[in-house]
Amino acid sequence: MPMDPVCGVHVDIEDALTATYEGRTYYFCSEECREEFREAPEEYVGDTASLLFEDEE
Ligand SMILES: [Zn+2]
Repeated sequence: MPMDPVCGVHVDIEDALTATYEGRTYYFCSEECREEFREAPEEYVGDTASLLFEDEE
């Protein structure tokens, strides 16, 4: 199940709202979360990247 990058909950693809950023699709539990993501997507994407590439600068 995909994770809402804004609030961190797991969301059901069937019910989720989506946004595309840099060619990737992100899923959100609510319009509020999606709006927050749209205002500063790099913040949330940055979090994910740091999880995937620990200590990389
Ligand atoms: Zn959310």
